[in-house]
Amino acid sequence: MNFEILVATNNIHKLQEIRQILSPHKITVYGMNDLNIDIGEVDENGETYFENALIKAKALQKVTKMPIIADDTGLEIVAMGNKPGLHTARFAKEFGGYLGAFNEIFQQLEGKERTAYFVCDIVLLNVEDKPLRFEARIPGHIATEVIGEEGFGYDPIFINDEIGKTYALMGQEEKNRVSHRGKALKKLLTYLKINNYIN
Ligand code: IMP
Repeated sequence: MNFEILVATNNIHKLQEIRQILSPHKITVYGMNDLNIDIGEVDENGETYFENALIKAKALQKVTKMPIIADDTGLEIVAMGNKPGLHTARFAKEFGGYLGAFNEIFQQLEGKERTAYFVCDIVLLNVEDKPLRFEARIPGHIATEVIGEEGFGYDPIFINDEIGKTYALMGQEEKNRVSHRGKALKKLLTYLKINNYIN
């Protein structure tokens, strides 16, 4: 049984992670480029990660009936009042890119407690007649400097507590095993298995 899914993202790293996690389960994962789909910029103006993921997935629902995945992710830093949270992408833009954002975070955290969470909300559409939601909130700490070169986004400053190193020091497989996206997708896989969409 082959199950096909379209991922609502232009982020090639996200797509790669999702593909690596789902493809061993005989799920073919397409990016929008693979199917020549261009829906332009989607305005992520939701008030929760779930709403934002739903906005992205629904934008694609207009052009396809195939199962769609969208994920919305945020970094919540406790000493910053759980910011940047929903505005994690915007925060990096505001400070001129990731290095600027890291420096801002390091400054704001000077002398403070460094607990943080990576949150991932995944929406699956076009499988049941309602959106399905899978989420994970993974505990960690903000590093005191940029550590590692793998991955993308905030990977070099987020120390995952389960492994005790930044995502940027992990290979793809190790990150997928412990990450917010990996754990949310594991829940999605369990759902698909229990309901006989995949073996
Ligand atoms: P979005 O979910 O694509 O809107 O991503 C929000 C922000 O979180 C962007 O700045 C991404 O680069 C960042 N981000 C998303 N997933 C990850 C991840 O797995 N590691 C590090 N940063 C991430």
